Amino acid sequence: MSIIPNAQQTIAEEQSEPLSEVRTDVTTGHRSLFSKKVFHPDDVISHFYWEEVRNTPTYLTVQIGEDRHVELLPTYLECANHSCHPNAFFDTTKKQLVCIRPIQVAEEITFFYPSAEWDMDQPFDCHCKSAECIGHIAGAKYLSPDQTQHYRFTDFIRQKLHASN
Ligand SMILES: [Zn+2]
Repeated sequence: MSIIPNAQQTIAEEQSEPLSEVRTDVTTGHRSLFSKKVFHPDDVISHFYWEEVRNTPTYLTVQIGEDRHVELLPTYLECANHSCHPNAFFDTTKKQLVCIRPIQVAEEITFFYPSAEWDMDQPFDCHCKSAECIGHIAGAKYLSPDQTQHYRFTDFIRQKLHASN
């Protein structure tokens, strides 16, 4: 998690929403989602929806079922980055991005990618620097039973975890 008030890193603000804003690192082009208000656990940060269901994942999709992957709308939500110590959760049943840890104004909104992805299209090595960092992020399928204790998962992923135990 990072709080980046440094204007040099975040000059471009390409899209503003009432409750959050996208910031783009002008050097890398990397986009992030930052909160514009204080959120408490269970607060709804955003509602979302989708129009098209794909049968394969991409780096932008969230999984809602077996061979069912969607790009969330509004599109700025795709800027929410991964953290191993997330403060938000995409509830794909209620179609709500909810707060799971207190979020301050100007704090980055993050979620745990495997919470909504069984087997990721583009695994990566995490550098979130949180004490809880689990390193290689490849999807819920690859988490240890101990790791799964610490996270909230979508209903679909929870079913998959139960079925694989
Ligand atoms: Zn991490």
